[in-house]
Amino acid sequence: MEFLFDVLVVGSGLAGLRAALEIPTSLKVGLVSKVFPTRSHSGAAQGGIGAALGNEEPDSWEWHMYDTVKGGDYLTDQDAAETLARDAARAVYELEHLGVPFDRTTAGKIAQRAFGGHTRNYGEGPVKRSCYAADRTGRVVLDTLFGKALERKIHIFSEIYMVDLLVEGGKAAGIITYELATGAVHTVRAKALLIATGGFGRVYKTNSNCFSNTGDGVYLSHRAGVPLEDMEFVQFHPTGIYPLGVLISEAARGEGGVLKNGLGNSFMTDYAPTLKDLAPRDVVSRAIDTEIRAGRGVNGKDYVHLDLTSLGAEKIQEKLSDISSFARIYLGVDTATQPIPVTPTCHYMMGGIPTDLNGRVLNKEGLPLTGLYAAGEAACVSVHGANRLGTNSLLDLVVFGRRAGRAITEDIETLSDPSPVKDAQVRVEARIKAIKDGNGAKPSDLRTRMQLIMTDCCSVFRNQTDMERGLEEIRGLKDKYRSVSIDNKGANYNTDLLDAIELESLLGLAEVILVSALSRTESRGAHYREDYPERDDHNCLKHTLVTAGSDGLEISFKPVKITKFQPKARKF
Ligand SMILES: Cc1cc2nc3c(=O)[nH]c(=O)nc-3n(C[C@H](O)[C@H](O)[C@H](O)COP(=O)(O)OP(=O)(O)OC[C@H]3O[C@@H](n4cnc5c(N)ncnc54)[C@H](O)[C@@H]3O)c2cc1C
Repeated sequence: MEFLFDVLVVGSGLAGLRAALEIPTSLKVGLVSKVFPTRSHSGAAQGGIGAALGNEEPDSWEWHMYDTVKGGDYLTDQDAAETLARDAARAVYELEHLGVPFDRTTAGKIAQRAFGGHTRNYGEGPVKRSCYAADRTGRVVLDTLFGKALERKIHIFSEIYMVDLLVEGGKAAGIITYELATGAVHTVRAKALLIATGGFGRVYKTNSNCFSNTGDGVYLSHRAGVPLEDMEFVQFHPTGIYPLGVLISEAARGEGGVLKNGLGNSFMTDYAPTLKDLAPRDVVSRAIDTEIRAGRGVNGKDYVHLDLTSLGAEKIQEKLSDISSFARIYLGVDTATQPIPVTPTCHYMMGGIPTDLNGRVLNKEGLPLTGLYAAGEAACVSVHGANRLGTNSLLDLVVFGRRAGRAITEDIETLSDPSPVKDAQVRVEARIKAIKDGNGAKPSDLRTRMQLIMTDCCSVFRNQTDMERGLEEIRGLKDKYRSVSIDNKGANYNTDLLDAIELESLLGLAEVILVSALSRTESRGAHYREDYPERDDHNCLKHTLVTAGSDGLEISFKPVKITKFQPKARKF
């Protein structure tokens, strides 16, 4: 079948929902999601959303902007950081008025707590900036925005997968979808197309991400000719439960939890004397891995302890009940009396589809592509630079999601009807048949191998030799993928087929991550190269762009926008 909308939003996490809510009801808005909207990954967000409300102690948007730029190791575009920090209070009060049940202070204001890298007075010490609802902030915001989308009667299509994205002559033309329940392939055309498909942590073996975080929107945009920005910056969150990767929010340290090595020492004092356990994530992840490499993991194993016992059972129950239940369910650990084994886990992608401040997708020359928009973790407005601060993602989603919705509303009059895309549907049907007829490796085998390679070659620490080996192996897996085979040949609920389709995105993105990481011969934020341990502002203060050219991947660069804060040594 063929469908036509004014605006089509792909992805129903917070970025997609917030953007869709900004578009007037006079326009026909469709929202496509491969999972039921409230199962989107945004619902997993735990610790909070950042805004300098100053409800618990003095704070200012300028300090928030500075922390975001310094946290991102000066690769953050400063116009984006300013937009984020200035708009944060409005965005949080808007959520409050929509019905988000934030925790409260005794005076009835929105409660706030400390989070990694958020400081008072330009780095003097931690500040309470995270607005939260216990340790389930994403869940309550997602449920609230989903309720509003239902009220607005936005057309929602759940369990429908975008399997191709069409950009023709520099203009978004539409998408091809696969319907999980029936196996039907549809063409959906729209004047404006917003990609809000989230991140792709599933590229790595141990990660905090949900199963559907396979980066389809980012990969399909890349395949359609969009350059991908700063893909080498992969965030490892310091405290994934060992060995699963399930996240223990930074809120645990914000509330007073402390990291300890196998000798029982709280080692963060050695790595970040001022912020200690509340240093940014790249710093803490490297500290943990350094302790482990030096043989100071707990019992000689690849983990350290996160100790919450000093908080007391009551505070843990009130502020950190979800993560405590994770520790109990997955490890049998009672967080009130026992430490939690933790190790860095792949968590967030700083890189993605380049956009301007209003969600318009930019081509290699930095010019907007007609009718194509992106927001959320899939996008790179470069507000997080080389390392995102905790609580700045939820803020990014609602600030830049809203701006993307506004830009679409402004642009829609100038956008013409999308061109027909009939052949594309036939191509997708042929591809599905080829996967069903394939006689090669199984998707699960290729995926496991890919995740091991990426974890081995391009994690918290990297170097040229390992990454070159990794790139060769990933390219070998891409060759094998051509004849991928599946067991289930049916049409209804064929998740086997979708695993195979998603694997193409993951493999493609793994290759781009490695190519980007090899091109950056310095250490900055989450990209730490053992062979180039220093930050090199002279040669490398620039964004990476990787484009799919006719002869393979092409690398180019673009300048970082610097306004208020000049790069300087990053100490915490
Ligand atoms: C455990 C955890 C805790 C976190 N805690 C915090 C926190 O406290 N504060 C904070 O700021 N950040 C936090 N983050 C980060 C933050 O939650 C995510 O970055 C953010 O939710 C991403 O939102 P999104 O809207 O971009 O994408 P998502 O919420 O991931 O949504 C993606 C959407 O795209 C859809 N989609 C994907 N591919 C397709 C396709 N091919 N076809 C159709 N639909 C598709 C999915 O169905 C989904 O609806 C946390 C992350 C994790 C993993």
